[in-house]
Amino acid sequence: MCKVPTIELNTGAKMPALGFGTWQIDNQEEAEESVKSALKTGYRLIDTARIYGNEEGVGRGIKESGIPRKEIFITTKLWNDDQDYDSALAAFEKSLKRLALEYLDLYLIHWPATKNRGEAWKALQKIHADGMAKNIGVSNYTVRHLEEVLAESDTVPAVNQIEFHPFIYNKQKDILEFCKDKGIVVEAYSPLARARQMENTTLHAVAQRHGKTIAQVMLRWAIQHGTVPIPKSTNPGRIKENFDVFDFELAKEEMETINNLSNDTRIAPDPTNMS
Ligand code: NAP
Repeated sequence: MCKVPTIELNTGAKMPALGFGTWQIDNQEEAEESVKSALKTGYRLIDTARIYGNEEGVGRGIKESGIPRKEIFITTKLWNDDQDYDSALAAFEKSLKRLALEYLDLYLIHWPATKNRGEAWKALQKIHADGMAKNIGVSNYTVRHLEEVLAESDTVPAVNQIEFHPFIYNKQKDILEFCKDKGIVVEAYSPLARARQMENTTLHAVAQRHGKTIAQVMLRWAIQHGTVPIPKSTNPGRIKENFDVFDFELAKEEMETINNLSNDTRIAPDPTNMS
């Protein structure tokens, strides 16, 4: 089994360079089975969120895998209705309990959805200071939202998890550059554009050249942009396929060809004008 490479966060922690997403796996048994399948395949980063409704199943999958806790990097997220200080602390405790964990590797503010997000960030700083989340970060933050965090606090988020795939590349270039500049690792969500482009002829041609699939080319592209993709699948064959991306490299021209597929496709809501 291939050991997944890691990327260093601004806390000094090492995060796997590829992860496993669990959105839309809201059946607890399915979540448990998918997480077990991912961990058996070699994934060591598991991404969930309170709003996915599967923290119990994800937690069971982790426990049942038999893999030592310290070898797995586990992320969950604070939902929008808990963005005041006390609610954020309480929401964290509840997530931890549902996951049946003693600490988290990464806790994220899910969306810059309310004016209270600064309070939520203070709560995350406390959770981090108490050692309950080894790393804290944000998700769906634009440059404006990140500048606000940097102006108001001396803790730089370790991670910003954003929508990132070839079809949104142009729209995400500025936030990618900003995060690189500030030492914030970008996690790429919906890295397969939620499987809506699996017939794309340009991606198909690149995939053929490397003896790989379109999904593998999209994940490799995200990795070569320095991001950490977190593809989701409940299918054991596709879970394996998505993990098998460390034995080939896209040439500079291929990266550019794929960059040029960008057509402003957005799968999740646009956070630009959020509060
Ligand atoms: P995604 O990973 O881009 O795509 C998932 C879809 O692609 C599923 O329908 C899956 O179906 C299919 N698929 C997976 N592997 C495939 C392959 N090799 N070939 C063909 N189809 C394949 O989309 P996502 O779930 O939106 O994003 C991934 C993760 O990012 C989420 O699960 C979640 O953890 C995170 N996320 C975070 C946010 C946020 O706001 N922070 C938002 C969205 C997502 P099967 O399951 O049937 O394989």
